[in-house]
Amino acid sequence: MKVFYSDDYVAMAYSVDATKKPQWVADSLREVPIPGVRLMAAEPVTAEDLLCIHSPEYVRAVQTGRPRRLAESSTFPWDIGLWTAELASCGGMVAAARCAVEEGVAGSLSVGFHHARRDRGSGHCIFNGLALAICAAHDLGLTGILGIDLDAHCGGGTYSIVGSLPG
Ligand SMILES: [Zn+2]
Repeated sequence: MKVFYSDDYVAMAYSVDATKKPQWVADSLREVPIPGVRLMAAEPVTAEDLLCIHSPEYVRAVQTGRPRRLAESSTFPWDIGLWTAELASCGGMVAAARCAVEEGVAGSLSVGFHHARRDRGSGHCIFNGLALAICAAHDLGLTGILGIDLDAHCGGGTYSIVGSLPG
């Protein structure tokens, strides 16, 4: 099973337990490998890739830090590392979705996502990598995709983005 991760996932300056978890899990897997689990980096998504689920104004705000209120709508303080981390982490989600379609199972050590909406972040979620992963699987021809969100509360952002996907 391929599990996607790169140290860019944790490139943001602001750091709390939730943002450090991907690196903790990656370090643990490197130290004590799990048979059959292969850690690997994915291509980061691009700003253009994000436009299929986010508004141009919001993508530009997170890329540049301006306007600051929109760039920090997730509640994370903005720095350029946030942009780097999100592109890498969303890239891992897209790679995991494509890989799962081909190989049956895959993962990404990404965090966040489910509160992020088309035109803004929310609740510590900047971009919505879950929606990107669902769209990537949909683009490969899958229909009837079920997104299971096991967080303690409803994210809402994912459904607001992909709820209207045909099929
Ligand atoms: Zn949440």
